[in-house]
Amino acid sequence: NEDGMYLIDQHAAAERFNYEKYLKQLGTHDNHMQDLLIPLKIELTNQEAIILKEKINKLIDLNFEIEDFGINTILVRSHPYWLPDYCLEEAIRKIIDIVLSEREFDPYKFTEKVAITLACKMSIKANDHQELPALEDLLERLRNTENPFTCPHGRPTIIAYSKYELEKLFMRSMEK
Ligand code: ZN
Ligand code: ZN
Repeated sequence: NEDGMYLIDQHAAAERFNYEKYLKQLGTHDNHMQDLLIPLKIELTNQEAIILKEKINKLIDLNFEIEDFGINTILVRSHPYWLPDYCLEEAIRKIIDIVLSEREFDPYKFTEKVAITLACKMSIKANDHQELPALEDLLERLRNTENPFTCPHGRPTIIAYSKYELEKLFMRSMEK
């Protein structure tokens, strides 16, 4: 625009928006569940199965419906409604991994970790081609976030060059 130029990292921008969205959804304790037509079978290692048994409540708290299914296998029957369908298995596996890796359980940190991981997974990649309307949409979403300037990992979403800086870079003052 007339003030200068803005470079925006589309992955970081989408990630910021998705992060705040997931954080909100994780915090609402809305118990809407989505039943799976075909329950999802997840295989675990011996070790994972033992740890998960102790921590299964964390998944239930998040609105997962889970059943034991033979040795080292669980069956996911329902999941929280806000998990996206298109990469469901991966998202569920990520959440289980976070549950497994959490030593001292801090609900705030857990929620944040889940939100960051899902947001990263669900956001467009840096090199994904986007049409202009989709990019304008992304900007609008970014504008409405609480902290539009960094992604949840702390990377900048926007780099701004003022008109003055651009002119300096092109050494325009030399011609005056
Ligand atoms: Zn990311
Ligand atoms: Zn990030």
